[in-house]
Amino acid sequence: MIVMKFGGTSVGNAERIANVANIVKSNIKRNPVVVVSAVTKITDSLIRLGKECAAGMGNKTLEHIKKTHYEILTQLRMDKKLLDEDIKELENLVSNAKSSKIIDEKMLDYFQSFGERMSSKIVAEQLNRIGVKSRSFDSWQLGFLTDSEFGSAEPLETAYSNLNRSIKKLAVVPVVTGFIGKTENGEITTLGRGGSDYTAAIIGAATNADEIQIWTDVNGIMSTDPKVVGNAKTLDRVSFAEASELAYFGARVLHPKTILPAMKRNIPVKVLNSFNP
Ligand code: ADP
Ligand code: ASP
Ligand code: MG
Repeated sequence: MIVMKFGGTSVGNAERIANVANIVKSNIKRNPVVVVSAVTKITDSLIRLGKECAAGMGNKTLEHIKKTHYEILTQLRMDKKLLDEDIKELENLVSNAKSSKIIDEKMLDYFQSFGERMSSKIVAEQLNRIGVKSRSFDSWQLGFLTDSEFGSAEPLETAYSNLNRSIKKLAVVPVVTGFIGKTENGEITTLGRGGSDYTAAIIGAATNADEIQIWTDVNGIMSTDPKVVGNAKTLDRVSFAEASELAYFGARVLHPKTILPAMKRNIPVKVLNSFNP
């Protein structure tokens, strides 16, 4: 079994999502568990939406979020109904937030959760389209429970055994929401910005995967940020300690907490480019 995590730019539009599904299909023999981020920039929009609602605004941002997803559905010829429940729930949250006039970390996490909840449904649907039996899961449906540190939650110890048990039972390719979890009281949490990498590593460790693949928009871990320095070079191998240090000092390519679960179980982490598989 392998874990394949796709970041925001990798699921940034209809074409990218179709590409992701093809990459998953070509790895089908390795029993992939797919983890996805929200469509690119949508988490930023959801945070903005939460803050605007507290000030009684947010209509434009809500429209933007809806339009972005509906455009993807139209281009992939999918039914708008696929996201009906999520959109309705988000609209309810918007009106509640507007009337309560305050926004705290807990509510911001709830807002942010919609990004991954919607992208996972679209990716699973696209996989089914190309003949790969698939189903989307909100991470908590597979037992991803966390503490109640909203904005930077940590998985509970039981999450590992829950995930292993539920994933091993599945007869479909699961597409799991990165970044989000739930407390034992049923409140939605997030693992912190960029946290889908961490979700992938936690699932990898929980299921003792052969490999954790982090699919992004650059050719692996490089000598420096290639968007800043033109002649950055891909590094063939990086030790767990080096990767951890890079992440800790802010190289966005891996979320700082990603390495630990992989290291504990000695699971290789590969950073791959979905634009250049
Ligand atoms: P994703 O949405 O796939 O999670 P991120 O934007 O979080 O992608 O991380 C990938 C980005 O990390 C790259 O586009 C690159 O600009 C940046 N980055 C920073 N440091 C490095 C590095 N040393 N090697 C590769 N990428 C890096
Ligand atoms: N969607 C979340 C974010 O933008 C998590 C992630 O992309 O890893 O921070
Ligand atoms: Mg990232």
